[in-house]
Amino acid sequence: MSHSVDEPWLLGLPKVELHLHLEGSMGVETVRSLADRHGANTTEIWPEGLPERFSFDGFPDFARQFFFGLGLLRSGEDLATATADLAATLAKQHCRYAEVTTTAYTHFVGRDGQPGMAPSEYREGLNEGRRRARDLGVSLSWVIDIPRDLEPPDSTVTVDYLEGSQTPDGLVAIGLGGYEVGFPAAPYAPHFGRAMALGLHSVPHAGETEGAHSVRSAVEDLSADRIGHGVRCLEDPNLVSLLVERQTMLEVCPTSNDLLQVVESTDQHPLPALVEAGLNVSISTDDPGWFATDLTNELRIAASLLRATPESMVGLQQSALDASFAPDDERRAIAAELSSVPVS
Ligand SMILES: [Zn+2]
Repeated sequence: MSHSVDEPWLLGLPKVELHLHLEGSMGVETVRSLADRHGANTTEIWPEGLPERFSFDGFPDFARQFFFGLGLLRSGEDLATATADLAATLAKQHCRYAEVTTTAYTHFVGRDGQPGMAPSEYREGLNEGRRRARDLGVSLSWVIDIPRDLEPPDSTVTVDYLEGSQTPDGLVAIGLGGYEVGFPAAPYAPHFGRAMALGLHSVPHAGETEGAHSVRSAVEDLSADRIGHGVRCLEDPNLVSLLVERQTMLEVCPTSNDLLQVVESTDQHPLPALVEAGLNVSISTDDPGWFATDLTNELRIAASLLRATPESMVGLQQSALDASFAPDDERRAIAAELSSVPVS
């Protein structure tokens, strides 16, 4: 029997996801349950009531909804709930392993007159969420990122935290998130140096809202092991050569790029050009709840853009696994599963 890359085949494919944000993962039901828990008034943001799925009109509208959701993550139990809800979605898609980014800074500083969360509570919430994920058959590792547009380079809140004793289990990397324009990567080199001295990997966002020079800075100044997005590297052929030579993984998120207007539409996404250039790519969701997408949907988009075969889609998952920081035993188990996926 021959297999084609259709929806059921994609759904059943064992998966690895490298780029998604805990604070961006919350779907409508998670927002509803956390709002109920805290007695928060959702009609401030959604006067007609919570929608069936989130959508937004431009970045300010997105930010308004996102920050409302963020404001519902007030305790360790809230973080555990959001993590478990995310894991349930991943489990349904046969995602075996995910590296989830969380922005410690936004929880520690507090906002709207609310005090920040204690690092010990943050740690316990993430650990509990990770345990619940494990019970659902999904292994999670953590990336903690510096939000470049919120935490200036002269702040050391995130990196001080990383050096302390309250980091969550399964922490594998430091990231750099937020809006790139006007917030260059290079001033964060000392922060990344300190994190890497702890054994953490470097996975900054770059080449999303800024061009190729931002990607080059992520590679040269922050020693990036992988790049979040990176799609605008194509603007500089020399940079493309460098990334190909190093086989630096680009974590490509098609729907995110479309909704945040990095590309005109998913149909116009440069994924085929990235693959054609020999770049190492993987596919992710970025903020699956807010963007109303999931990994199977992103892989469907990628398969269509690439006119992919089952073998090439298995290959994409193997590449993501190879570029992950999964423990060796999990890596072997997922590789064995991938090698037995029916492709022909
Ligand atoms: Zn991201």
